[in-house]
Amino acid sequence: MTRVGPSDGTRQRSEMMRRVRNKDTTPELYVRRLLHARGFRFRLHRRDLPGSPDIVLPAARTAIFVHGCFWHGHDCPRGRPPASNQAFWTPKLEANRRRDRAAVAALTAQGWQVEVLWQCTLKQSTEELVSRLETSRAPQRTAIEETR
Ligand SMILES: [Zn+2]
Repeated sequence: MTRVGPSDGTRQRSEMMRRVRNKDTTPELYVRRLLHARGFRFRLHRRDLPGSPDIVLPAARTAIFVHGCFWHGHDCPRGRPPASNQAFWTPKLEANRRRDRAAVAALTAQGWQVEVLWQCTLKQSTEELVSRLETSRAPQRTAIEETR
């Protein structure tokens, strides 16, 4: 690991990295809780699938990635590479982005629906995704409700 200066920004970044390294990051837990509350069944970190998607819904053939904006180079203020130490960060973050694109392409080729949820818009995008998933499984539920 390259050592960087002890500025405040660096400390924040170290904190971010520490959190990102943990598999069960808070944004991911948020998505899992919401899916669970709405009755969806899912599996976690399927290593047999390209990119080891964070959450996999087998019934909907949907793979979900919960991406931190910094690590995955989101096009938003949080996704900007740091101004210092660019020689270190730029190739690293570029490689992450490349890996992400390759995983999405491979999953799509295998017939998976791929959803990327970004940290900066997590709540809204998760709500939208869950609504979409509910709509696509709606016929079954409607049929049950109609017989009541
Ligand atoms: Zn973002």
